[in-house]
Amino acid sequence: MNVAIAGAGIAGGYLAGLLEKRGIVPDVYDGALHTTTCKCRSCGWGVPMGIQTYLTDVGLDLNDYLIEPMSPMHFDDLVAGTPLCTIHKPRLLQDFRKKATMKRQNVGMDELDDYDIVVDATGIHRALLPPCRSDLALPTLQHRVSVECEGTTRLEAGVYGNRIPGLGYLWIFPVGHDQYHIGIGGIGPIKHENILERFYRESSERFSFAIKCSCQDSIRVASPYHSTPFYERRERSDGTSQLIIGVGESIGTVSPFTGEGIVHSLECAKILADTWPNPERYTRSVLARFAWMKRERETLDYLLSTEGKGGPRMRDRWRFFRSARRSEIELPMIEAFKQMGSLSLWVENTDC
Ligand SMILES: Cc1cc2nc3c(=O)[nH]c(=O)nc-3n(C[C@H](O)[C@H](O)[C@H](O)COP(=O)(O)OP(=O)(O)OC[C@H]3O[C@@H](n4cnc5c(N)ncnc54)[C@H](O)[C@@H]3O)c2cc1C
Repeated sequence: MNVAIAGAGIAGGYLAGLLEKRGIVPDVYDGALHTTTCKCRSCGWGVPMGIQTYLTDVGLDLNDYLIEPMSPMHFDDLVAGTPLCTIHKPRLLQDFRKKATMKRQNVGMDELDDYDIVVDATGIHRALLPPCRSDLALPTLQHRVSVECEGTTRLEAGVYGNRIPGLGYLWIFPVGHDQYHIGIGGIGPIKHENILERFYRESSERFSFAIKCSCQDSIRVASPYHSTPFYERRERSDGTSQLIIGVGESIGTVSPFTGEGIVHSLECAKILADTWPNPERYTRSVLARFAWMKRERETLDYLLSTEGKGGPRMRDRWRFFRSARRSEIELPMIEAFKQMGSLSLWVENTDC
C-alpha cells in the first residue's frame, strides 16, 4: 500500500513515525515555504509537560527540546501554577523529519495519483480535503523579541485576555536566551499591530524590546465537529479508488478557546495510527475524543453573535473554567469566572 503524507508539521511528522513503527513507510511532502527565521510555521512553542507521553511513542525525550517550564504563569491579574513549558519546536520537527522519507516540495492532488492513501496534514491550509463545513479562523500576529530588563524583574510568562477588545489574548512565552514570543490572537475588530505596540510602550519603563522576527498566520478554531468531512474517496486516473484523510489542524484539532493545537494534533495523529486505515472508526473516535471542542466553538459562535454582546452566559463561564482545568491550570473557580467577564467588553472598544 502506497501512502503519502502532505505536511511535515506536528501532526504529519509524528504520524510518519507512528506508521513506520507499524511497518508502513510513507512518503512525506513539505516545501516548508516559511519566511520565519526559525523556518517553520508561525507558531508559539507552549505545550503541557504531558507531551512526553507522545514523544516516548516515537523514541524521543522531552528533555532534548525543553526550553523553560512556565509555572507560575500570569493570567491577567492572577498568577497560577501550570504544567506548561516551552519547547524548541523547530528542533522537534527536524527530528520527526529525520526519521521520515522526506520530499521537499508542497503538493496538490495532481502529484499524488500514485498513492492509495493520502494524508492531508497541511494544517490551516487543508490543501487536499474539501472545505470544512463551517470554518472559523483566529488571526494572529507574533513577534520574536529580545528583551532586556531595566531593573531586576524578569519578564514572566503570561496570557492576557484583558488587553484585547475582542475574543482572544496576548501571550508572552520565553524561548530562551532572553528572547520571547510575544503574540496576539483575536477575532473581531482588532488591530493586532496596535495592541502589541501598546504593550511595548506600556512596558517600556521596565523592559526594552528589540523585534527579531514577525509573522502573521491564522489558527483554525472551528473544532473537529465543524471541520468535517475528515476524509474523501476519489477515483484515480486508472479508475481505482484513493482515500484522502485529514489529521491535525486540517481537521480542527485545536482548542477553540486557547488556540493550542500541538498536543491535540499529536493525539489526533495517534488516533489515526491506531484506527489505520479505517476512516469511519477514525472519524467517530476523533469526534468523541474532542467533543469538548464543539462546546467551546458554540461559546465562540454565541459571543460573536448579536445575542452574545451582553457577555458570556453561565455555561460559557463554566466552559472557560473547564478549559483551564483540562490544561491543569490551577485557576480558582470564582476568579476564573470573573476573568471570563472581561470578554463582555469585547466589541465595544474598536480603537485598539
Ligand atoms: C501564531 C501561532 C501561535 C501558536 N501557538 C501555539 C502554542 O503555543 N501551543 C500550541 O499547542 N499550539 C499553538 N499554535 C497552534 C499550533 O501551532 C498548530 O495547531 C499545530 O502546529 C498544528 O499542527 P499541524 O501539524 O496540524 O499543522 P502545522 O504545524 O501547521 O503543519 C502543517 C505543515 O504542512 C505544510 N504544508 C502546507 N501546505 C502544504 C502542501 N500543499 N503540501 C505539503 N506540505 C504543506 C506546512 O509547511 C507545514 O509544515 C499556534 C499557532 C499560531 C499560528
